[in-house]
Amino acid sequence: MYVIFGMFPVSCARTESSRAEFALGTVCSVTLFERGDNRVYQEIFSRLREIDNRMSVNIAASDVSRINAAAGIEPVQVHDDVFFVIERAVFYARLSNGAFDPSVGPLVSLWGIGGENPRVPTQEEIEKTLSFVNWRDIELDANSKSVFLKKPGMALDLGAIAKGYAADEAAAIIKSAGIERAIIDLGGNIVTCGVKKDKSPWRVGIQNPDEKRGTYIGITQVKEQSVVTSGVYERFFEKDGVRYHHIFSPSGGYPVDNELLSVTVIAHNSIDADALSTAAFVLGYEKGATLIESLPDTEAVFVMKDMTVRKTPGADFTITDKNFSLIQN
Ligand code: FAD
Ligand code: MG
Repeated sequence: MYVIFGMFPVSCARTESSRAEFALGTVCSVTLFERGDNRVYQEIFSRLREIDNRMSVNIAASDVSRINAAAGIEPVQVHDDVFFVIERAVFYARLSNGAFDPSVGPLVSLWGIGGENPRVPTQEEIEKTLSFVNWRDIELDANSKSVFLKKPGMALDLGAIAKGYAADEAAAIIKSAGIERAIIDLGGNIVTCGVKKDKSPWRVGIQNPDEKRGTYIGITQVKEQSVVTSGVYERFFEKDGVRYHHIFSPSGGYPVDNELLSVTVIAHNSIDADALSTAAFVLGYEKGATLIESLPDTEAVFVMKDMTVRKTPGADFTITDKNFSLIQN
């Protein structure tokens, strides 16, 4: 069995050539079926590192860090791919009415979830920090490919969208190398390339949010699509019996606390599935499902705290764990 973060392609045999490396703050694995040569793997992983170097907030020289350092001071010219991802991020911020907000950087730093010293901030700290979170204060200039954060103290964080972009870029390399079948998994951002030899769909397991990695509650069947999950179990810390996870409400400043444990989005492009899974998680089931259903060729599976699962009508999803029940609308 091919076990990966968050979800896993159930029907992917281990005997095929695959490679895993640490990048983008997570384990990135790529499986090339047939003709998976070393040169293609090298090209993919060096592209992932390039994206990491340009978009990470943990690398001082990255374009995103330079934008953040110049907040309230001046616009910063960035590489085309950074501009593209920020443009898409702003698009999804608008579409989700700010539920998805790439300017959550100050909140991410304040809570420190995933870092060495996470903590629950005071209400006063949260309120002060929220004054720096507003995607409308991100100014983009498509001619000069520059990005300006209007207020000093603002900071971008592309953690909810850049892995999706990186997965799409890996898929593009695979396609141009003429490789017909492949699976990309960047810490739970999955892209299935091509179709299986017998033309049957790929089977991707959706993680059980309460169990160890690789335990799935059901299977979604996809073809040439990306499957991305946002959930409470990816990064969190516990204090006084309360779990604080890493997906924030950009309006309230706390980790989102609604009826959801996770949202999985299935879409053609991973950048879209990544942004939308985070957006739908923040919006909650009702509004999240309405958003997903308004988009063509986009489906979602919602795992709720009460152990029910809901899905958009077009999602091909089957429950395999009988502790969960699928509620058909
Ligand atoms: P998603 O739901 O896709 O995203 C959640 C993340 O997005 C949060 O962690 C936060 O960063 C941000 N976010 C929270 N709330 C919102 C919101 N409402 N709207 C928009 N964004 C929000 N991790 C490390 O530990 N060390 C590293 O060096 C590191 N480098 C990275 C470099 C890059 C280029 C990227 C893309 C990620 C990196 N990461 C690193 C991982 C990153 O910090 C996140 O943990 C990860 O991207 C979360 O992905 P997800 O799929 O679990 O969740
Ligand atoms: Mg995301």
